[in-house]
Amino acid sequence: MFIRFSEDMQQMHYWGDNIYIIGKNEEYYKLNEVETFLMEYIIKERNIDKLVVLICNENKELIEDVVKTFLSMFIKNYQTFLELDYRKDERDVMVSGKKGENYPYNLIISLTNECLHDCKHCYKGEKGILKRINIEKLEKFLDKMQGKVPYLQLTGGEPL
Ligand code: SF4
Repeated sequence: MFIRFSEDMQQMHYWGDNIYIIGKNEEYYKLNEVETFLMEYIIKERNIDKLVVLICNENKELIEDVVKTFLSMFIKNYQTFLELDYRKDERDVMVSGKKGENYPYNLIISLTNECLHDCKHCYKGEKGILKRINIEKLEKFLDKMQGKVPYLQLTGGEPL
């Protein structure tokens, strides 16, 4: 029997030590410590028999029956996202962020507050004080975020 990620599972993202599951409607669920532990193994191995052996081999203090019980409870609790099937399915789900660190899931960067227009609703404010982002600092910052932040939006003012 294999575990597979359902179509409802859009992505996973680390925030600190925990994995968050993000569903297709942008709903999210924080996995607790044990659930995060199990999910990290599921990401590596989807065959349930091999998965149990892998977990027990790498964690000698754990007993096989206990692992099986926790695993079946976990799959049942998150059946919207985790399905059981006799067929192997290699659908991968992106895991972003970094364990132990807090990288945002969605990052919005204002490149400038300059703009030729003067819309009343605009929150750019501070008319007359024009600022542009420092490109070198931006590049260094984006290098640090690369591979960890799944969504990036660049906005203004009017960057062009
Ligand atoms: S940034 Fe957009 S909303 Fe603000 S003044 Fe310019 S066009 Fe209007």
